[in-house]
Amino acid sequence: MYLKTLEIVGFKSFANKTKLDFEPGMTAIVGPNGCGKSNVSDAVRWVLGEQRARALRGAKMEDVIFNGTDSSKPLGMAEVSITLADCTEALGIEYDEVCITRRVFRSGESGYFLNRKACRLKDIQRLFMDTGVGTDSYSVLEQGKIDQILSARADDRRTVFEEAAGITKYKADKKEALRK
Ligand code: ATP
Ligand code: MG
Repeated sequence: MYLKTLEIVGFKSFANKTKLDFEPGMTAIVGPNGCGKSNVSDAVRWVLGEQRARALRGAKMEDVIFNGTDSSKPLGMAEVSITLADCTEALGIEYDEVCITRRVFRSGESGYFLNRKACRLKDIQRLFMDTGVGTDSYSVLEQGKIDQILSARADDRRTVFEEAAGITKYKADKKEALRK
């Protein structure tokens, strides 16, 4: 499974619709300070369901919406879509590609979409559990993340290994069963 495309509109510094195409393997994003490199990785974590504004380097969730510049007005909505390819085996699904979309309006209204159909965040989390893809997972390692994993409490660090071992789903099922 690999990240094939990332489409951003109204998210952070990306006011205009921007589409990035990736190839399998490693991709490096380079550019001067402040050009929006970290905003690209923020977009990937946001579309996968990041709920903590601070983890996206903001104070509140609304801060992900393009806030305007000297020459352009703020926007009312942010939307990010990612397409993942070679998914059949990795996700145990029939089709090869999966598209995830998240949208938020300044009014606070928001939503998630799986292959353009409205869905719950839970559906997205469940789809990617044990695959290494997710907000708390190891597929996106933002600045400082390695240090954070190394200095984490043993219990917290354990979750990284559980995800790699593929038992996150079972633990989530157990937790839900015990709650009922
Ligand atoms: P560095 O090399 O310093 O890490 P970078 O390329 O990672 O830089 P980012 O942190 O991705 O840069 O982007 C920072 C830019 O994004 C700043 O110019 C900031 O003003 C802009 N930005 C962040 N949030 C918004 C927003 N909501 N609206 C408009 N611009 C924003
Ligand atoms: Mg950066």
